[in-house]
Amino acid sequence: SKTVVIIGAGIVGVNVADELVARGWRGKDVTVIEQGPLNMPGGSTSHAPGLVFKTTPSKTMSMFAVYTMEKLLGLKKDGVSCFNQLGGLEIATTPERLDELRRKHGYALAWGIDAHIINADECLKLWPHLNSKAVLGGLHIPSDGLALAARAVQILIERTKKAGVNYLESTPVTGIKKTNGRVTGVTTPRRTISSDIVICCAGLWGVEVGKLAGVTIPILPLEHQYVKTTSVSALRGRPVNKHMNAMNAEYPILRYQDRDLYYREHGEQARLSRIWLGIGSYHHRPMPIDAATLELGPKHVDEKHMPSRRDFTPEDFDEAWALSKEILPMIQDCGIEDGFNGIFSFTRDGGPLIGEAPNLEGFWVAEAVWVTHSAGVAKALAELLTTGVSSLDLANCLLTRFEEVQLSPAYTHASGQQSFAEVYQILHPYRQTSAPRDLRLSPFYPRQKELGGIFLENAGWERPYTYEANAKLLRSLPKEWQPVDRDAWSAMNYSNVASVEAWKTRTAVAMYDISAFHRFEVSGPGAVRLLQRLTTKNIDGEPGTITYTLFLTERGTIRTDALVVRISDDVFWVKANNANDLAFLQKAARHQQKQIPNQWVSIRDITGGNCAISLWGPLAREVITSVSADDFSNKSFPFYTVKKANIIGIPVTLLRVSEVGELGWEIVASAEYGLRLWDALYSAGQPHGLVAAGRSAYDGLRIEKGFRTWGADMDSEHDPFEAGIDHAVQLDKKGFVGEAALRRRAKPAKRLRCLTVDDGHSMVLGHEPVFHEGKPVGYVTSAAFGYTIRKPVAYAWLPSHVGEGDAVEIQYIGTKIKATVAAEPLFDPDMSRSLS
Ligand code: FAD
Repeated sequence: SKTVVIIGAGIVGVNVADELVARGWRGKDVTVIEQGPLNMPGGSTSHAPGLVFKTTPSKTMSMFAVYTMEKLLGLKKDGVSCFNQLGGLEIATTPERLDELRRKHGYALAWGIDAHIINADECLKLWPHLNSKAVLGGLHIPSDGLALAARAVQILIERTKKAGVNYLESTPVTGIKKTNGRVTGVTTPRRTISSDIVICCAGLWGVEVGKLAGVTIPILPLEHQYVKTTSVSALRGRPVNKHMNAMNAEYPILRYQDRDLYYREHGEQARLSRIWLGIGSYHHRPMPIDAATLELGPKHVDEKHMPSRRDFTPEDFDEAWALSKEILPMIQDCGIEDGFNGIFSFTRDGGPLIGEAPNLEGFWVAEAVWVTHSAGVAKALAELLTTGVSSLDLANCLLTRFEEVQLSPAYTHASGQQSFAEVYQILHPYRQTSAPRDLRLSPFYPRQKELGGIFLENAGWERPYTYEANAKLLRSLPKEWQPVDRDAWSAMNYSNVASVEAWKTRTAVAMYDISAFHRFEVSGPGAVRLLQRLTTKNIDGEPGTITYTLFLTERGTIRTDALVVRISDDVFWVKANNANDLAFLQKAARHQQKQIPNQWVSIRDITGGNCAISLWGPLAREVITSVSADDFSNKSFPFYTVKKANIIGIPVTLLRVSEVGELGWEIVASAEYGLRLWDALYSAGQPHGLVAAGRSAYDGLRIEKGFRTWGADMDSEHDPFEAGIDHAVQLDKKGFVGEAALRRRAKPAKRLRCLTVDDGHSMVLGHEPVFHEGKPVGYVTSAAFGYTIRKPVAYAWLPSHVGEGDAVEIQYIGTKIKATVAAEPLFDPDMSRSLS
C-alpha cells in the first residue's frame, strides 16, 4: 500500500490510523507525527469533556456519532470501555425549545436512534437537582453519553502500534514537500519523511498546516469556556453504581440550550467523596484565535498547561454562572475550582472538513471534527482512501464544498463566529443568515429589490424566494389557487405570494432568476471521452442536444446529477449541483490528461460570469417571440435542445428545458447584458401577465412534477433504481464509472416515494420520520406545497414493501400527519405541457 503520514495524534488522527489499518492498510506504511508528547498531546482532545449528543438534522452527522459511540463502547481496557452510556437529556425552558426538541425527536426516529420526549416530572427523575419551576420538558436519548476521549486515544495508539503504525512524538511538522501538484512528504526539525499521502488531523492548527501545503482549510478556532465547580455536596453519598464507579459520572449528560449551556458530572474514580459539576458555556462573545500565535511543539504539557487551553476570562462566565445556579440550585454555594477557555474549530456550516485538497494531490484533511463524530469521520476518510467512496454521503462534509468566495480569511473569520453564536440556537431550514451577506448578486438584483424580492443566501448567492410586488395579485387569485393556512414553523420565512407566482407559472408565464445554478464549461479534445466515461447516458449526440444524466460512484450510487449540454463538438456545459462537482470534474480531467496527454480537457466554472433567466409557462413562447426574431417553434427548437439566438440584440444561449414542467427556456447571457435582458423580458411579458417568481414557487412546482433534487432527495448513498430515475441510465451504454457495480446491485430494499398529505394543508419541511403500521420506517427528504394539485407533497425514503396507495404518517413537531404514497409524477405525467 501507499505510505501515509498523519499529522496529529488527537482523537481524529489516531482514529484515522486505526480505520486505515482495519481496512487492510499496512501498519508499517503509516506514520503518525505529533508535536506534543503522546501521553498527553495537548490538543483539544486532551481536555474535551466528551459529551456525545448524537442527534442532528443531518443524517450523515448523526450516523458519524452512532458509529463513534459504538466504536468507543467496544474499545475496552481492563474491562472498562471508552464510553459511559449515561443517556443524554436536553431540557426545554421555553415552548419554542420544546418544539425544537420535538423536531429533534423526529430526527432521532428518522435516523434510527431511540429517543423519548418526556415531561418535566420525568426530567426531574433523571436529573433530580434541576429547577422544577423552569423545566417544561425534555428529550431523553438513552444511548447518548460521555466519550472518554483521552483514554480512547491511548488505547488506539497501543492498538495501532501493535499493527505496526509508527508514532513520532514531540515532533512538529514544519513543512509539506510537494512535486508537480503532488505531495511527497513532510519535514520536521530533524528530518524529512517521504510519503505518498499526508493527512492533516491537526485540529485547531489545521489552518497553519494547510498554509504549509498551500491549501486553504476554512476553519476558525474559537475559545469555549469550560468550568469545574467545587465539590457539590448534593451529589455526594449516592449508592455507587457501575457507571459511577468506573467512569466518574452517573446522571445523564445535560443540555440547557435555551442558555447555551451544558453539564456533566466529574467524580473521583472509585471514590465518591468528591463530585464536581462540569459546565460548558457558549454563552459568551465569540473569541476567535489566530492559530499562528499558538505554540508549536510545546515544551511542557500537563493537565493545566496545554496549547489548546487559554487562561480563563471570568467576566465572560459571569452570566453563565448565574444562569447555572438558577437551573441547578444545588450549586448555589459552590465556587469555581477550575475554569479555562478551551479552543476548537468552527466552520461556516458547522460541518467537518473531509477529503483530498482540490489543488494538491495526496494531501487529505479531517478537520473541525468533534469527539462526537471522530471515529465516524475517520471511517469515512479511510473508506475514501481505500475504495474511493464513503458509505455515508459526504456532500456537506467535503473540503471542496465551499465556493471560492467562501474561502477567504475574512469570510471564514465572520462565518466561523456566526457558527459559534448559533451552535445551540433553534435554526429554521429557511432562516435568514446574518453576515456575510450580499457576496454574490446576479445582475438582476437591483430590479429584484424594486420588486420587493425576499432573498435567502446559498453558496454566497442572494437567491430570491418571493417578490412582495406580487402580493397585489393575491386578490385576483382564483379560489383553487388560494393559499392554505400553515402552522407557525412552516410559515416562517414563507410568503403566501408564492401561490401567485405558482399560479402565474402554470397559467400564464413567469421569469425565474437561476443565475446561481452551477454551470461548468467542459471543453477541449478530451471532453467527449471524459464525459462519456463519467456519465450514465450517451452524451455524444449532435451539437445542440441536451442530456439529463447521472455521474455515479464506483459503487454504482449517484455522485451527482446533471444536464449535459453540447454547445459544439468539443464544448459542453455541465449543469451540476455544487462546488464538489467542480472539484470532482477537475480532478478527473487532470487524471485523463496524465494518462492521455492529447486528450486534455479544460473545466471552467462559468456560473458567475453569466446570468440566467428561466422563462416558464404556457405563454412563454408568446413572450420570447416578441423579443427575438429567431424561430422558437417546436419543430425548429424541440425540447431538450440548445441554441444560440438574439434577444433585442443580446447574444444569448437558450436551453429548451423545464424544471417545473412547463413550456419554456433557460436563457443564459454574459453577465454584462443581464439588466437589459431582464428589462426586455419583463416588459415584453406584461401583456401576457408575466411575473417575476422565486424559489418558493419553484420548489412546489418541481416537486409536484416529480423532479428530484440531488442532495436532498437522493445522494451518493442511493442508486438510480431505488431513487426512481431509471430513465437517467442507458443500460446499453458500456464502460462508464459505476456501471459494473450498478449491474451487480441487488433489488432495492428501499425506495424514494412520493407522498401527498391527506388533509390538503399540513406542511412538513424535510427530515421528519415516516411511520407505516405504527413504526418509523423511513424519512422525508424534501417537501413543499404542490400548488396545482393543492396538497403538500413530500418525498421520502421507505422500505420497498410500502407501495402506492399505502397509508403512512409523518411525525411533525409531535403530531402525526396522515399521508398516502402516491403514483408519480403528480402533475403532467405525459409531459404534454413541457413539449407543447
Ligand atoms: P486535537 O485533539 O487538537 O488534535 C490535533 C493534534 O495535532 C494535536 O495533538 C496537536 O498537537 C497536533 N498537531 C497540530 N499541528 C501539528 C504539527 N504541525 N505537527 C505535529 N502535530 C501537530 N467535542 C465533543 O464532541 N463533545 C464535547 O463535549 C466537547 N467539549 C469540548 C469542550 C472544550 C472546552 C473544547 C475546547 C472542545 C470540546 N469539544 C467537544 C471539541 C473536541 O474537543 C474537538 O473537536 C476534538 O477534540 C478535535 O480533535 P482533533 O483530533 O481534531 O484535534
